[in-house]
Amino acid sequence: MLSLTEKLLETLNNKRLIMDGAMGSEIFSSLNCNYKTFNYKYCEHLNIHNPELIKSIHKSYLEAGATLIKCNTFSGASLFLDEYILENSLGGTEKQEAYRANFEGVKIAKEVAQKFSLNKSEKIIIAGIISLPWGQEIHKEALEYAFHSQINSLLDGGADLLFLESLYDLEKTLLLIDVIDKNFSSIPIMLSFSPQLKNVDGLEQYSIFSGESLKDACDKIITKYPSLNYISFGLNCCSCSTSLIKPILELENYLIHRGLKNIYISLHPSAGIPSISTIATYPDTVKKFISNFSKIIERSSKLRFIGGCCGTNPDYIAQLISFNSIH
Ligand SMILES: [Zn+2]
Repeated sequence: MLSLTEKLLETLNNKRLIMDGAMGSEIFSSLNCNYKTFNYKYCEHLNIHNPELIKSIHKSYLEAGATLIKCNTFSGASLFLDEYILENSLGGTEKQEAYRANFEGVKIAKEVAQKFSLNKSEKIIIAGIISLPWGQEIHKEALEYAFHSQINSLLDGGADLLFLESLYDLEKTLLLIDVIDKNFSSIPIMLSFSPQLKNVDGLEQYSIFSGESLKDACDKIITKYPSLNYISFGLNCCSCSTSLIKPILELENYLIHRGLKNIYISLHPSAGIPSISTIATYPDTVKKFISNFSKIIERSSKLRFIGGCCGTNPDYIAQLISFNSIH
């Protein structure tokens, strides 16, 4: 029997796979949350305390046609980090909360996907989402503990692969990959950077928050950990403009020149850069999002995972699917 990676590579050889859209902004609008006062880690607690809401968001994306579902576990490592830092002052209850929030995040996504895929032949991929906690002064051991614990709980929940998303800092990313390399080296992984457009010596270029260009960040990762089960490198949470063509082609050229033909590219941008008051308003309509996305798709030969980040919803994904089906 073919492994998930082998099946995926077979599929990716000749088609693009559609990911879902935003989870966070969908939660905020469903619950009428105030962006100024909202505690973002609350999102993962909803996996335990309001699973029906999270299930309904997953279902809406599956109905739109997505075949890769991102679990609601984005801040899951931060939950374990809080637990580690407060270990001495809190009892066992908090410990179980971090584990349960992550475990249930995968379990409920799987549950919805299984019900949904009963009538369809295509396997729905359940991606355990991991992001990097913010903060400069985090102890290496604490961060290692947080990543290791989160991955354990995501895999216990039944994640098909790990999706390292919104990567903004190379040092923390390397630490996360080191944990995977030492303990979970066979699991398929997707890596997605959150780039920023910067003006360097008069030239506009995309780099990550810690300063490295996308190519340099990928190169450091691949050089240090050459034999992991990488499925894709990509970008997310950036504005979907045609200026993304350049960094996508930069990634593509890098992968081709390094001879990494089985590593593809993913892209799930936001619906523009939001203006934030008590609510967030995203500037890109579905039409604009698709129009910009289509120009990127036309130029890239390795772009195989497409979807949406902040501000997108099932309409964006449905339209992306109908564009993709004719191109
Ligand atoms: Zn985003």
